[in-house]
Amino acid sequence: MIGSVFQLFYPKVCFACGKPLSKNFEHICLQCRHSLPRTEAYDRKENPIQKMFWGRLPLERATSFLQFQKSGKVQRLIHHFKYKGVKEIGYTLGQMAAFELKEKGFFEGIDSIVPIPIHKLKLKKRGYNQSYFIAEGISDAIQIKIDLELITKEIHTESQTKKSRFKRWQNVDSSFKLNMERIPEYRGKHILLVDDVLTTGSTLEACGSQLLQIPGVKLSLLTMAVAEG
Ligand SMILES: [Zn+2]
Repeated sequence: MIGSVFQLFYPKVCFACGKPLSKNFEHICLQCRHSLPRTEAYDRKENPIQKMFWGRLPLERATSFLQFQKSGKVQRLIHHFKYKGVKEIGYTLGQMAAFELKEKGFFEGIDSIVPIPIHKLKLKKRGYNQSYFIAEGISDAIQIKIDLELITKEIHTESQTKKSRFKRWQNVDSSFKLNMERIPEYRGKHILLVDDVLTTGSTLEACGSQLLQIPGVKLSLLTMAVAEG
């Protein structure tokens, strides 16, 4: 009832193009689902996403689903997802990415999905971890479980942009903590680390390097978008 009254005043629109949605679609219209710019990084012989982590993080596989363009549809989507509280966009993007990448064998051998954790104070303030919704969309599409307890974010970092590069590195580097009790079950397993937008990769590097402390563990990476280089 409340839903229908709400819809009377706010007809559902596509968060990418702003056009009204047909009743079969949620959050992103059919046309945008087809036309949003893919990076296709995973199809390339020299994968630019994997290349970003050369010498930083040894990765089995890595890709970003969409190409972020200034004032483009992906930017609009991410804006609503990250700053306007439309967390379901993350789920939809996660599903879309998973269905397409599954065809290409991207998830073969993956045992567990780990969304980049946020600190509990940030979680309390925001109410949810954005990366978790992306991970849920992926998990539902490929039937691989999400693990929220393997790694946690310990230090409540203040706004990253205010810090010098060195301090920023220091701050991020020390802030992810592995749950020691969980390590034995992850020996030799393959973890997929998930995040929303790839920019410098420093957060993924910090979190991923902690996960790689687990003996014999393999790591892959999937983000929903990559910033313009
Ligand atoms: Zn659209």
